[in-house]
Amino acid sequence: MITLTGKRVFSGVAIGKISFYKRSEKVIKREHVEDIDAEFQRFIDAKDIAMEQLKGLYDKAMKDVGEANAAIFEVHQMMLEDLDYMESIENIIKSQKVNAEYAIATTADNFAEIFASMDDAYMQGRAADVKDVSERVLGILTGVEESVVQTDEPAIIAADDLAPSETVQLDKSKVLAFATMFGSSNSHTAILARTMNIPAIIGLGEELKPEYDGKLAIVDGFTGNIYIEPDAKTMDEMREKQRKDQEEKALLELLKGKENVTKSGQKINVYANIGNVSDLGAALKNDAGGIGLFRSEFLYLENDTFPTEEQQFSVYKQVAEGMAGKKVIIRTLDIGADKQVDYFNLDKEENPALGYRAIRICLTRPEIFRTQLRALYRAAVFGNISIMFPMIISVAEVRKIKEIIADVKEELKNEDIPYKEDVEIGIMIETPASVMVSRELAKEVDFFSVGTNDLTQYTLAIDRQNSKLDAFYDPHHPAVLSMIRMAAENAHAEGKWIGICGELGADLELTEEFLAMGLDELSVSPSMVLPLRKRIRDL
Ligand code: PEP
Ligand code: MG
Repeated sequence: MITLTGKRVFSGVAIGKISFYKRSEKVIKREHVEDIDAEFQRFIDAKDIAMEQLKGLYDKAMKDVGEANAAIFEVHQMMLEDLDYMESIENIIKSQKVNAEYAIATTADNFAEIFASMDDAYMQGRAADVKDVSERVLGILTGVEESVVQTDEPAIIAADDLAPSETVQLDKSKVLAFATMFGSSNSHTAILARTMNIPAIIGLGEELKPEYDGKLAIVDGFTGNIYIEPDAKTMDEMREKQRKDQEEKALLELLKGKENVTKSGQKINVYANIGNVSDLGAALKNDAGGIGLFRSEFLYLENDTFPTEEQQFSVYKQVAEGMAGKKVIIRTLDIGADKQVDYFNLDKEENPALGYRAIRICLTRPEIFRTQLRALYRAAVFGNISIMFPMIISVAEVRKIKEIIADVKEELKNEDIPYKEDVEIGIMIETPASVMVSRELAKEVDFFSVGTNDLTQYTLAIDRQNSKLDAFYDPHHPAVLSMIRMAAENAHAEGKWIGICGELGADLELTEEFLAMGLDELSVSPSMVLPLRKRIRDL
């Protein structure tokens, strides 16, 4: 038995086989070939296999997610059969006498650059597609699979770390637990584990080896231990621990339908954070009073190109209807920093967390923002939607947003498209600047929601993604708590409500202090709704 210890992110015990997340690493070398016709044929054969795969994917996607989302696999087939694309590969192989892999990789880079430099946003988005489809052919030629989790049965997903775009691709029904070498407790792997209510351990280091793939293991999310090939005694102990945990969770079930009220009668709303429609079930199951944060950027992360207005409208409508009149706060696109999307073609930045992200993208690329706002105002007809804007630092930004909103509403009116006129709008308080001008900001909006993950990062000048700094990343730091208090005082002075939607909202050690600050709402991972309700009722 091998025992490794990392940092626990979410409690619970999971027993199952390890499935190591395989990230494709294709090193393409330029090699000289003699038989150039045979080499070109190698490309043609691989391309034919790729075409078959794409047809299969198209059929699967048609069944699972419908025609609009399946269309991308048709586009990929067209790209592979494109004459210019094939000619470029043939020319490189035959004129330079080089291997097919090199010719494909070079062609993919050239074509991607051409697409990326076009003015049209749709065409720019094709840069990622031509790379993607070329990767597929390269994968076939080199025998290196795509990044996937290969498991038929639910498994413990092990990885070095997972990017948000990778977590969205995971088949959630196949994930028993997460165990990663690196990552920080505020990374999106950690947030996903909390949302899915499954045990997770991060920071296990390089001792967590890919060769453990397929081995039986136990993840103890209470202690941060993972036991690989556990002995009989450990297995018995862990089974008992798992049983007790399940019993406690059953006890929490009894809190469903009860109010979030302290013994002295103070009430507070407890809402849930979600990343996509499939999390809605967890929010409802855990009896959340509403959705306090819908991270709409996951819709963009899941897509190969900009989600259309119709696609967004249908998702927002589904969430609004699913919550049946309860409040649903949808945050507009918060892309950038740790959440990268290829088709946005964002430049590499020295300091991405301080860079071109969130509202800064929306205000400078209004066509993306307007599409989302149109979808939101249309979906608001079907439920109780509020809209929230991330990474705000100034009153001027909020005024600009309001101008765009007015414009979008006017446009919908002229087009005779139904929309809701009065939608509650709020901002995230996640920069020290927004705290310092919170009195002025409160005059402009209906509510605040404190994003403590970023507020802690920016207040303490500590990268939330850097696990080396975990010891310094202290969300209990008096500076962070003073920031929250100040924002609360200023919101209330202007008669506006304020909540927390960052991870700190679920920190049961601080619940009493948050109630003392007079916060009106705490929005937490679905699995934390009932433990938080218990804590509030015990106070
Ligand atoms: C936050 O910063 O606290 C927040 C809720 O947003 P995200 O974690 O998605 O950056
Ligand atoms: Mg944030």
